[in-house]
Amino acid sequence: MNYLHIDKCSISNGQGIRVVLWTAGCTLECKGCHNPQAQDFNAGVPLTEETVQYLFSLLDKDYTWGLTLSGGHPLDPLNVPDVYDLVKRIKEKFPDKTIWIYTGYTWEELLEPDKQQAFEIVKMCDVLVDGRFILDQRDITLAFRGSSNQRIINIPRSITENKVVLWEVNKPKK
Ligand code: SF4
Repeated sequence: MNYLHIDKCSISNGQGIRVVLWTAGCTLECKGCHNPQAQDFNAGVPLTEETVQYLFSLLDKDYTWGLTLSGGHPLDPLNVPDVYDLVKRIKEKFPDKTIWIYTGYTWEELLEPDKQQAFEIVKMCDVLVDGRFILDQRDITLAFRGSSNQRIINIPRSITENKVVLWEVNKPKK
């Protein structure tokens, strides 16, 4: 898998100070995509073991709340195997840090049988921002998302309660 960029210290891609990995490649082709060059799976550079160790070093900082996976599309079928391995390693090494993940799929689509491994990734994360970017619903006043159809989902509660439970901005989970 290729990635485009790593933000060492972002406050705009999830709550708190976060490391952001921008994965390369997306097949969803949303009209008005905020980052069309990120749709190319060959953009950027390969995610190597050295990159993973660099991510670990950033996540090891006390001030870092966790990792955000964005793109591109981290849950595109072509990226899922590598993202699965990465998230698993991060959860094992940093169990107290949160993981936010962005996807063009809806929560409901992720429950479909052909997206089982993608949903296994989701289950290891804390917050999911779901849904395609819809240009007609674009709203620059929204925190952490581009269009109003997209939801910020509390993953553990949604799994436990078997329904979509939105993440509550005023009750942060660090
Ligand atoms: S899911 Fe994201 S990266 Fe993919 S086309 Fe839509 S806005 Fe662009």
